Amino acid sequence: HAKEQGRNCHRFFSETMRIPAARRFSIETKLSKALERGEFVLFYQPRIDIASLRVVGMEALLRWQQPDEGFVMPGEFIPMAEENGLILPIGDWVLQEACRQTAAWHAADLPPLVVSINLSTVQFRHRLLADRLAQVLADTGIDPSLIELELTESVLMEDTKLSAFLLSRIKDLGLKVAIDDFGTGYSSFSYLKRFALNTLKIDTSFVSDLNKDPGDEAIVSAMIALAHQLGLQVVAEGVEETHQLDFLRSRGCDEAQGYLFSRPVAAADFEQWVRDRERCAQFTGRPRAIGT
Ligand code: C2E
Ligand code: MG
Ligand code: MG
Ligand code: MG
Repeated sequence: HAKEQGRNCHRFFSETMRIPAARRFSIETKLSKALERGEFVLFYQPRIDIASLRVVGMEALLRWQQPDEGFVMPGEFIPMAEENGLILPIGDWVLQEACRQTAAWHAADLPPLVVSINLSTVQFRHRLLADRLAQVLADTGIDPSLIELELTESVLMEDTKLSAFLLSRIKDLGLKVAIDDFGTGYSSFSYLKRFALNTLKIDTSFVSDLNKDPGDEAIVSAMIALAHQLGLQVVAEGVEETHQLDFLRSRGCDEAQGYLFSRPVAAADFEQWVRDRERCAQFTGRPRAIGT
């Protein structure tokens, strides 16, 4: 069952091993050239404030436009890149590009959107990460409070003492930090308090069956209440249906992200989407109806 798998497995191992060896070899060879060939693109998916239905940010999601294979999804190549070290230059490109784009949108009069950037464990534990972040901030001139780094539970739990230290260095630079896919890993509530986090992202697997599974409704309600008591913002991932949004609103969840609003799309399409939505909100005095 996909839902249980999502919750209980270390996704990167299972994902990598599911790929046949020949395809894996072919992809790995091409992956090592992808950066210099300019084959990576960032897609963006909006984050919506549930109370106002305004767009408040976006998550940058990596896509590999491979000439023979078409779009390769991150679930397939990120685990590989983590194993062979390519994630460092690739992740660095993501960081640079997402910050450049966000600063450009800010300069082009889009609302001050916060960009979320996923960090792999290799990047998070790299001793030069803080220096690199400072450099990217300087290069792009971006306001650090417009950047949120997303880390998964397993990344943080690997060495909790070191993680706490690394998080404090990121926070010292003025960046925000989110815990991603919450509920799928250790889900230890005690470290939510210990770590300097801003945001908790509830994993898709808990959102998908809201209104079918009373257990999931209870879990999601508890996660939102607990996160709020610890002073964290809560984002629900994978919101696809109106009834899910209604439930999340009734529980005071702060933000939603999912196909109900938009799939991840290319930068130009995202910008157009935001402008259309803003224009509509100005005319009607309220945000655009959902799904339109
Ligand atoms: P994630 O960070 O949890 O990203 C959310 C995933 O959920 C994305 O998959 C997104 O397309 C998908 N999604 C969004 N809304 C919905 C929805 O309503 N329903 C469903 N079923 N899915 C939805 P994607 O883009 O394939 O990325 C998968 C994972 O790959 C990400 O999970 C993240 O862990 C990783 N990833 C993506 N980009 C990067 C990156 O630049 N660096 C690193 N290190 N990891 C990345
Ligand atoms: Mg994420
Ligand atoms: Mg996630
Ligand atoms: Mg996920």
